[in-house]
Amino acid sequence: MKDAYEVVIIGSGFGGAITGCRLAEAGYSVCILERGKHYKKGEFPRKFDDSRDWFWNSKLDFNGFIDFRFDKDIAVLLSSGVGGGSLIYANVHIRAPENIFKQGWPRDINRDVLSSYYDKVAEMLNVSPLPEHKNLPKTEAIRKVADEIGKGNDWDKPDLAIYWGEERVEKEDPYGFGIDIVQTGCRYCGECVIGCNYYSKNTLDLNYIPVAVNNGAECFPLHEVSKIEQEDEGYNVFYRDLDKKTEGVVFGKKVIVAAGSLGSTELLLRCRYQYKTLPKLSKSLGHNFSGNGDFLAGALNTKGEFADLQPRNGPTITSFIKYWNQYPEFYLEEGGMPLDELVFLAGAFRPDSDYLKKLKRSILRSIFPRTIFRRRSNKLFIETIGKGEGELPSDMMLFLAMGRDAADGQIRLKRIFPLPFFPQKLDLRWRNKQSMPLFDKIIEEQKKVTEGLIPIWVCNFHFSHQKLSVV
Ligand SMILES: Cc1cc2nc3c(=O)[nH]c(=O)nc-3n(C[C@H](O)[C@H](O)[C@H](O)COP(=O)(O)OP(=O)(O)OC[C@H]3O[C@@H](n4cnc5c(N)ncnc54)[C@H](O)[C@@H]3O)c2cc1C
Ligand code: SF4
Repeated sequence: MKDAYEVVIIGSGFGGAITGCRLAEAGYSVCILERGKHYKKGEFPRKFDDSRDWFWNSKLDFNGFIDFRFDKDIAVLLSSGVGGGSLIYANVHIRAPENIFKQGWPRDINRDVLSSYYDKVAEMLNVSPLPEHKNLPKTEAIRKVADEIGKGNDWDKPDLAIYWGEERVEKEDPYGFGIDIVQTGCRYCGECVIGCNYYSKNTLDLNYIPVAVNNGAECFPLHEVSKIEQEDEGYNVFYRDLDKKTEGVVFGKKVIVAAGSLGSTELLLRCRYQYKTLPKLSKSLGHNFSGNGDFLAGALNTKGEFADLQPRNGPTITSFIKYWNQYPEFYLEEGGMPLDELVFLAGAFRPDSDYLKKLKRSILRSIFPRTIFRRRSNKLFIETIGKGEGELPSDMMLFLAMGRDAADGQIRLKRIFPLPFFPQKLDLRWRNKQSMPLFDKIIEEQKKVTEGLIPIWVCNFHFSHQKLSVV
């Protein structure tokens, strides 16, 4: 790594990778610092013997790709690794409708302004819907139910960032980026949210990042930024090299903080209030975060023609019903799940799990005193999803809804005990009250859809699961 760059970018998810690529193309010297690993083809874990391969927690030396945070009011799911959230996202590309920008956005940002950029991203990520010839039971089921409940015109298949080349067949640089990547046609295995081991997902490490590197950008995995300090002509960025266990500093004339909703906010809050290196940052920092209206639910024991929905098959999400042009607005998407892996994740939160034991030890050491994985939610999770038996039934359907919530959350630093020498921890405050019209409406509409699938049991993870929202 050089001592100085024109631009230092923190994080390699959508914000960091795209900015890094375009700045490098424009001739700037660019350094991207990413806390997570760079996963190569086939490197996402599938064995369940070491939770360190799966989960992220730098203080405990867990360098996995899933960063799962349970706070008192809200649970947040994030990713770490070169490509950021694209590694575990559901590949869905939906463009925000025009009216979203009427409230809470800077005046100059609206759908018209963003349209050409949406086009560019769509082109770069080569998005298109699930191919017609691939008729999955879960996709077809939702289409039929949408028809039955009078929402047939609002059913659709979203654009997905997936390489639909010939199934399981490898192709070198299929999109002609001039990069040394061999992708494989999607095999419909449903593992998108635990990292695609076949280079079939068009994740950012297969397009924006290598194109940035081809244009001279440098990307450093396992480099976690801890502090930003202003200097006359720019900023010193302090980092920990998690591989070599060393610390370092790099200078950037400009710094782009693209470490995700929690990562960016925590870093900036610490720089403003704890280290006092960026004291001029706005006091609004951390206010008005949104949970994206995310709402997870499921239908179990679906019946008749819907008895075999095969939730593991196909990409995670393949279709949606739109509840737009109404109040409150949202999308309802069906969701597939990787079965055994999900059961493992549930198992990781068992009271006797290796992962939990380590966290508890760290709690004793006062590193994470507020990281609480409640037994109740753990039990519920295992009982409802995995039944602790290692298999998820085929007669079930998951739903993910997302819409416009009240965006009245607050991210702040809080001392474990109100004494100055105790460390400050990130604290997420989230109240459902103002967002209840949205969630009530989602529950109402979800019920109609699940009744269409004739289930005998419907579970709303959102509220039974510690009153949490999963972002
Ligand atoms: C399971 C799941 C499914 C989703 N599905 C969809 C979907 O289908 N469609 C959609 O549009 N959105 C989806 N999302 C949301 C989407 O992934 C996020 O909105 C998006 O990733 C945010 O981009 P970002 O660049 O802000 O942050 P991220 O993509 O989270 O990137 C931030 C990066 O910064 C790194 N970082 C954090 N702190 C530091 C630090 N201190 N130093 C160095 N690096 C750091 C992180 O490791 C990460 O790689 C999904 C999210 C999840 C969790
Ligand atoms: S369905 Fe499987 S092969 Fe296709 S993108 Fe998802 S993880 Fe990759």
